[in-house]
Amino acid sequence: MAITLRFDPLRLSDKAQDLRLQVRHWLNDQIRAGLFDPDVPEAVFGENKDFARAVARQGWIGMAWPKAYGGQERTFLERYVVSEEMLVARAPTGCYFIADRQSGPMLIRYASESLKARILPRIISGEVMFCIGMSEANSGSDLFAARAKASRSGSTWRLNGAKLWTTGAQNADYMIGLFRTSPPTPENHRHGLTSFLIDMHAEGVTARPIRQMTGEADFCEVVFDDVVLPEDHLIGEVDGAWKQATSELAFERSGPERFLETYGALQAFVQLAQGTKDNRIREGVGYLVAQLHGLRRMAVSVAGMLDAGEDPITEASMVKDLGTIWEQALPGQLRRLSALMDGNPDETMAFRVRLDAYLRMAPKLTIQGGTTEILRGIVARSLGLR
Ligand SMILES: Cc1cc2nc3c(=O)[nH]c(=O)nc-3n(C[C@H](O)[C@H](O)[C@H](O)COP(=O)(O)OP(=O)(O)OC[C@H]3O[C@@H](n4cnc5c(N)ncnc54)[C@H](O)[C@@H]3O)c2cc1C
Repeated sequence: MAITLRFDPLRLSDKAQDLRLQVRHWLNDQIRAGLFDPDVPEAVFGENKDFARAVARQGWIGMAWPKAYGGQERTFLERYVVSEEMLVARAPTGCYFIADRQSGPMLIRYASESLKARILPRIISGEVMFCIGMSEANSGSDLFAARAKASRSGSTWRLNGAKLWTTGAQNADYMIGLFRTSPPTPENHRHGLTSFLIDMHAEGVTARPIRQMTGEADFCEVVFDDVVLPEDHLIGEVDGAWKQATSELAFERSGPERFLETYGALQAFVQLAQGTKDNRIREGVGYLVAQLHGLRRMAVSVAGMLDAGEDPITEASMVKDLGTIWEQALPGQLRRLSALMDGNPDETMAFRVRLDAYLRMAPKLTIQGGTTEILRGIVARSLGLR
């Protein structure tokens, strides 16, 4: 049996590290100018159009894309560094994050030239927000059970049905959505799905926000009632979207966002515990930081494979699985460590109030972007165990 897992020990180049400092200084300037508040846990992925345009002016949206479409052909490793700094600062990247991470690369690979020419420059300038329409009420882990339907009508397509848990749909301008165009075949249960670019402002599209336990309403049910799409909004092959969805998931699953969503709790705790003499606290923090370092090395390695044009779906699944388990457990671990603090009670209380927001955020982390069980199934398959 051939074991195909690969995590080459890549190092970030000096150029990437210089870029890191540039991004960090720029973010500090934005914080000082009041563009966002890094102390608000929910700020990460906040939707702020002014911030998106400001990032675009720096050239940090679509930075790894071909120059022909307005990109800069910088590396995925440079993009990794920019993403990491944005997450650590809890910058409000929600208006462009999905487009930059996966919708743009999908369009570059599979859309018609006319569509690319129309849409990609608008992503790069921070003008348009995207959402991902994969999951449905009875089709989350099993994407290939999708029932929302697209049918040909002359030179157009018509969409009917509903998507569920669509992050950002209420404010998005476009969705890349997976629709059934034919039934599955006995030989291939994945056959029959097709991807489309959907204008979220088109007649017949309704996005209904769903409130989460955090109090926020980040995702939606999206209903399509006879929505008409132009022919060239087809992305890739009719009935063959399963191959495309697989490569899209490598972009979705491997980035630093898969272990840095609750990282602000660790930053706040390290600040609270400055100067502590308690070895249990020192050891606890050291353990968490060592694990984080391992996750970063794995994610950097996957970014290197994306640079090399590979589809590291198994390695990306491992980063997502281990990363989300780490970030999900983090707030609880810090709550236990904070019980050992004997410093200023007001400061400890202020930390716990902030921690509450991270505790409420944690349960979703192992569900969004593919559940733990599904990811382990992918890893097991690549090891020849299924
Ligand atoms: C915060 C958040 C944001 C999201 N954003 C988006 C988005 O933008 N776009 C989008 O399309 N979707 C989005 N999702 C949906 C997400 O991808 C799905 O919730 C997820 O894939 C699980 O699908 P499900 O909810 O239908 O659960 P199910 O698939 O019904 O799973 C229920 C449980 O059964 C387990 N299970 C299912 N199948 C198997 C199996 N074969 N073997 C072992 N165990 C199994 C699962 O691991 C899980 O524990 C989001 C979800 C969350 C929580």
